[in-house]
This record gives sequence, C-alpha cells and structure tokens, in this order.
Amino acid sequence: MSFTQLGLSEAILRAIADHGYTSPTPIQAQAIPTVLTGNDLLAGAQTGTGKTAGFTLPVLHRLSNNTAVPSNNKSKRPIRALILTPTRELAAQVEESVRIYGKYLPLTSAVMFGGVSINPQIKLLQQGVDILVATPGRLLDHMQQGTVNLDQIEILVLDEADRMLDMGFIRDIRKILAALPKKRQNLLFSATFSDEIKALANGLLNNPATIEVARRNSTVEIIVQKIHPVDRDRKHPMLSHLIKTKQWSQVLVFTRTKHGANKLVEQLARDSIGAIAIHGNKSQTARTKALTEFKNGTLQVLVATDIAARGIDIDQLPHVVNYDLPNVPEDYVHRIGRTGRAGANGEAVSLVCVDEHEMLKNIEKLIKQSLPKEIIPGFEPDPHARAQPIQLRSGNGHHRNPRPPTGGVVKVANSRSAGPRGGSGSKTAKFSPRSNATHRSGGRGK
Ligand code: AMP
Repeated sequence: MSFTQLGLSEAILRAIADHGYTSPTPIQAQAIPTVLTGNDLLAGAQTGTGKTAGFTLPVLHRLSNNTAVPSNNKSKRPIRALILTPTRELAAQVEESVRIYGKYLPLTSAVMFGGVSINPQIKLLQQGVDILVATPGRLLDHMQQGTVNLDQIEILVLDEADRMLDMGFIRDIRKILAALPKKRQNLLFSATFSDEIKALANGLLNNPATIEVARRNSTVEIIVQKIHPVDRDRKHPMLSHLIKTKQWSQVLVFTRTKHGANKLVEQLARDSIGAIAIHGNKSQTARTKALTEFKNGTLQVLVATDIAARGIDIDQLPHVVNYDLPNVPEDYVHRIGRTGRAGANGEAVSLVCVDEHEMLKNIEKLIKQSLPKEIIPGFEPDPHARAQPIQLRSGNGHHRNPRPPTGGVVKVANSRSAGPRGGSGSKTAKFSPRSNATHRSGGRGK
C-alpha cells in the first residue's frame, strides 16, 4: 500500500515523502480514506501506531480543499479544525505534525496549552489560525476570556480521549463541545474503550465509522518484557546496578508519583548517574529542556510520571523501566509503547516488590500473558516480606482517577506486525520541544 492510493493531495504527498515515510501504517491506511469522506470516526489507536498522521493528513486535505472563508468573517481566518489532546507535550507534537505535513499548504496552525503565558497565544488567535491544537484547560481559559472563537469549527479531533477522561477533563470537554457548531465532523481516537469512552463516543459521534486495528499482542513480542522481583527498599540500588552493568545510555524510568520521581533523581545522582525528572510540578521550560537533553543523548535517565510522559515520542528508545508499576493497568501498555517504536526492538523491565503483586496480576490479565521473572543476583527479594499499602499519588496538579481494571478491551494497533512500516530512517525524536510554546505553521493564504 502506498500513500498515493489514499486520496491525498499532491502537496500533502510531497510533504510525506520529504519526511521519509514510504507507506502508511495500518491505522493511516484505514483512517485517512474514512476521514476524507467527511464521516465521523471512532478509532482505536495508541501512540506509536502513526495515529497522528492518521488524522492530521486527512484534516489538512479537507481544509485545503475547501478554503472558502465564511462571509461573516472576512477580516480574520476562523479556526476550522480543533484538535484536543490531554497533555502539553502531545499538543506540541501534534501541532508539529500539522506543520510538517502542511508545509506546502496555505494553512496556519497554533498550539495552546497551560503553564506558559497566555498573551502570545492571544496574539496568534487575533492573527487568525486555521488549525488549533490545544489542551482542554487552556482552551477553556481562552473561551472564558473571549479570546477564541469556535463558531466555525468544521472538524473536531479528540486525541487520546481515554487519557483525557483519566485526567479528569470530561467536564472541560463537555463545555468545549457545547461551544462548537452542531454541524461538524468528529474524530475520536482512544487506545482503550472503557464504558466512559463509549458513552462519550455515543453522545459525540454521528453514525461513525469504526476502526479497530489489531491488538498490540505482537508488539509485546518485539518489546522484551521482564519482571525483576526486588524488595521495596532495594529498587534504587537495583536500578543503578542495571544501568551500570548493562551500560544503558538512554533510559526512560516511570515512577508512580512526582515525589518518587524527584527522590529517585537525587538517589541516582549520588551514584553518578545523570537523571532529570519531568512531571506536572515542573515548569514547561524545565520539561522541555529535560526532553531535549534526553533525546540528544546528553541526559542518560529521564524519570517521568505517566502523565508527564504522554506524548513523548522518541524513535528507537531502547529501555523503559517501570520503577513502580502503574496502578492503572492500561498505563503499562502505554508505558512500554515508548520503547521499540517504529520497528526497532526495545526492552521494558519492571522492578516489582511485594506491594505490587496485585497490580502485576491486573496487568498480566490485561495483556493476557504472564511476564517472565528474572531475579538479579544480589537482589533476591525477602520471601517473607509482607505487602504494604501503596501511595498512589503525591503533590498537586492533575489528579487521575485511579480506576480499577475496567475489563475494557485495549484496542491498540500494532503497525509493526500488521503491515509494512517505512520508518523515517532517522534516529531523531519527532518531538521538538520549544521554549516558545506557541508557533505557527505554513504560509499565510496567498
Ligand atoms: P504516532 O502514533 O502518531 O505517535 O506516531 C508514532 C511514530 O511513528 C512517530 O515517530 C512517527 O513519526 C512515526 N510514523 C508515523 N507514520 C509513519 C509512517 N507511515 N511510516 C513510518 N513512520 C511513521
């Protein structure tokens, strides 16, 4: 299958070719023609499958095909497509994709999220933006200040909708939906289909096409997964030991809490291992800096909480460590999806103490396999250790709703097993953090 068979314009095909993609991923092959028909879409796809291009390409095509600016709004370009994402990182990454694929189109885009000054964003909105990528909170700020007009939205995309619900954005989303014109195209992307997502989809989507790409089973074969049983207070020495003896040079480590992330960074520093934590309490500038250093190889270890890690897109990230298991089993799938991307192999190891056995059981139930356990000599866990209750979160910021395993099926695509994947041939991460949170794309209309 080639991109040329999907019905995209020459300008878009040229941008795709420039970017180095040769063939569409399964989610792209299915989503692009569907979105081009103008139908609503419910898509099961997770980060790593190529889902971003799955919606940005046809959205760009549709907008550029019909450039008529409504007569009541001659002075300014109205926002015609709104893409909502759960996190700042993902928003920045999606908008970067819009710019990459839209570089030969006379369309403008902007990204807006919290944690940075709102004024430059207001200026951009005043100048006119065709495609707005935003996190729900900051978009609501703009709505409340009357600095954004959503009257002309033709296409709405909810990206990682499950994540948005997990992060408690449902009320914000409903407020935003209420401000949109009734007649529009809606695209909902989600890695999982819980009852909550189904309810949201039922209320939002009009006779949608549904795309369910293959489960992620075979990814699991490509990503080598391992459990290292360990005592609660031996996790940190074990991590240092693994990093040093296995000479891991680029490791993404997940902790459950922000406090845990900070503490681990300090402990690793004492072992002369360079690490930085990213989480919701860190400024956007600090997060951006850490990501830049991590992806260019100057930072060895990035410690992240689940929320902060959403949207981190680093090709061929070799090692992911679950320092703590996630309390939401679906997060395990999201976490290990950070490694072994775009066809590369990866390793995901989990340091599991007695407190986490229940979590491990839930994860294994979800992924329908039991994970191999390997005891590291010198770190044998105490067989008589008793489980203690786990602190699920720390600090303030976004609060997830820790949910019990939903029993909902994880509908995730696996582009690696289900079809050919070109790969950009580049080791560069596609996420380009910027100090300036808002930026435009494309030229202005000619
Ligand atoms: P996403 O699921 O949108 O986060 O994309 C995951 C990764 O796959 C990103 O690094 C993309 O640049 C890459 N990617 C997306 N589409 C393709 C494609 N057709 N061929 C090769 N790589 C792709």
